[in-house]
Amino acid sequence: MQINGKAKEKYTYDAIVIGSGISGGWAAKVLCEKGLKTLVLERGRAVKHKADYPTAMSHPWEFDYRGQFSKKFLDENPVVKKCYAFEDATQHFFVKDNDHPYVQEKPFDWIRGYQEGGKSLIWARQTQRWSHLEFESPQRDGYATDWPIRYKDIAPWYSEVEKFVGISGNTDGLDNLPDCESLPPWEMNCVEEHMKDKIMSEYKDRKVVIGRCAHLTRPQEIHLAQGRGQCQARELCYRGCPYGAYFSSNSSTLPWAARTGNLTTKTDSVVHSILYDEKTKKASGVKGIDSNTKEETEYYAQVIFVNAATLNTNMILLNSISSRFPNGLGNDSGLLGKYICFHNYRGNIIASFDGYEDKYYSGRRPTAVMMPSYRNAYKHDADFKGGYMVFYSATRQGWGRSESRELLGPELKDKMAKPGPWNVFMMMQGETVPIEENHVRLSQDKKDAWGIPQLITSVGYTDNDEKMLQDFLTTGAEMLEKAGCKNIRPYDTKQAPGLDIHEMGGVRMGRDPETSLLNEWNQLHLCKNVFVTDGACMTSTGSQNPSLTFMAITARAADFAAKNIGKM
Ligand SMILES: Cc1cc2nc3c(=O)[nH]c(=O)nc-3n(C[C@H](O)[C@H](O)[C@H](O)COP(=O)(O)OP(=O)(O)OC[C@H]3O[C@@H](n4cnc5c(N)ncnc54)[C@H](O)[C@@H]3O)c2cc1C
Ligand code: SF4
Repeated sequence: MQINGKAKEKYTYDAIVIGSGISGGWAAKVLCEKGLKTLVLERGRAVKHKADYPTAMSHPWEFDYRGQFSKKFLDENPVVKKCYAFEDATQHFFVKDNDHPYVQEKPFDWIRGYQEGGKSLIWARQTQRWSHLEFESPQRDGYATDWPIRYKDIAPWYSEVEKFVGISGNTDGLDNLPDCESLPPWEMNCVEEHMKDKIMSEYKDRKVVIGRCAHLTRPQEIHLAQGRGQCQARELCYRGCPYGAYFSSNSSTLPWAARTGNLTTKTDSVVHSILYDEKTKKASGVKGIDSNTKEETEYYAQVIFVNAATLNTNMILLNSISSRFPNGLGNDSGLLGKYICFHNYRGNIIASFDGYEDKYYSGRRPTAVMMPSYRNAYKHDADFKGGYMVFYSATRQGWGRSESRELLGPELKDKMAKPGPWNVFMMMQGETVPIEENHVRLSQDKKDAWGIPQLITSVGYTDNDEKMLQDFLTTGAEMLEKAGCKNIRPYDTKQAPGLDIHEMGGVRMGRDPETSLLNEWNQLHLCKNVFVTDGACMTSTGSQNPSLTFMAITARAADFAAKNIGKM
């Protein structure tokens, strides 16, 4: 539908943000604070903080199947059912497989949250900064392409984001894991402390710290002003937190943006494509489709932020075709959709630990112990490229442990009232090296319910990933042995790419339009009023959980866009 005159005015804003998740919320916040009339277009339904968290306070016995699913439901959802956070209490925040089909040329578990707030409602909230090493490593070790920014460019924006979001953690003073603006840390328990001391005394190059996470351990004025309160250590976060104690767009950035009076949010609005004006050589707006009525509307703005989540952002750009850009917006290089990368989560190790039987811990801590990457950090010291982080935790077995099945009556009660032995779990989070072959593209014949071509995912592991996995399984088992663990069992989860839910790339940043799509401010090299600041912009993956970096990159780019709005 093409509209003119007064009708067009009605649909005209200063800025449009596509997607209201972790990155889109930040774009909206910064653009609105800078005075720009901003439209957020969100394909999913409205989810209001507190009011729309229907299971936040439910007990296990209040669910039909005590939190489990029927076999039929599981059979109908072979992909999303693999996500550890998908359960009856959270399923309303996850995309069901049949509602949004895609084509897996190679196995790829695409986990999505299509609603206001996106995956910010269901993320695990682990937040570490990148260091200078991650921004330098593609150039230093010869992979991907050089990042056009360095740590110093993003450091002030990490601070800006962290103060507003609220990140708990220690001041650890590490070069390869820069300190954050931190709230009080969560504590390690006695076994985790014991392991930390052993590992750090055995390996001088390895550091062990408590995980940093987006939870308010002691809310500051800025958090109280957002209406958010202290974390109760319940670990029911994936249901939505009525206290606003973890960061989500719904509890934080979106209501903050709304308070400025500059925000308009349209939910149930699927963005089909970005409109390109051949005369001005700029994007003029976007084409949206009402997800229920299928009515099409064009929205106009001077600046467009694409924050639909990595693969959806790739889809929108690939589908934004004009005579100037027949292969997708800004895609003269043919690289759009290529160099998709993710995190390698295949290495897990379980073990037991004898001792400390008289010790326990209280509450459900929403984070784990972690070790920043000790491979290829300062010099190339492994037979693969990139690094990996390690997470571990020690917990005591609970009342459901297997020995309970052998007992009855008072004996059972007595035994189960006491905690069981200690278990240790360790896992890797590995960088994957972006390669051109790992790509997404649009199907030529299959469309979704809104007439948009379905996405084809063609993303797989490489030899580099296999070598990194073996390195972790060996070094992790060694560390556990030195830390005093028993029954150490390393294994390969064999999970497909995608289940890490850290997909990145396809619209990467770089210095050269021939080898990248975005410049140092996240503008498309060839269409400067379009900004991509979600995971699609990532040139490489680092080994840290990525969303803090998406937020910092978004805040930086939105600030730039607002300051330069008339000049693009
Ligand atoms: C179980 C789980 C655990 C995780 N744990 C962590 C963690 O510990 N740390 C970490 O850093 N990251 C974690 N992540 C990943 C994190 O959630 C994502 O990196 C982050 O949400 C990405 O932000 P985003 O803004 O790009 O996308 P999203 O938050 O997914 O938001 C994208 C939004 O765009 C909307 N959208 C999509 N297409 C369109 C369209 N065509 N038109 C309009 N709107 C559209 C979607 O509906 C959605 O609301 C986890 C994710 C999950 C699911
Ligand atoms: S653990 Fe904290 S953040 Fe999570 S639901 Fe409970 S109070 Fe909220």
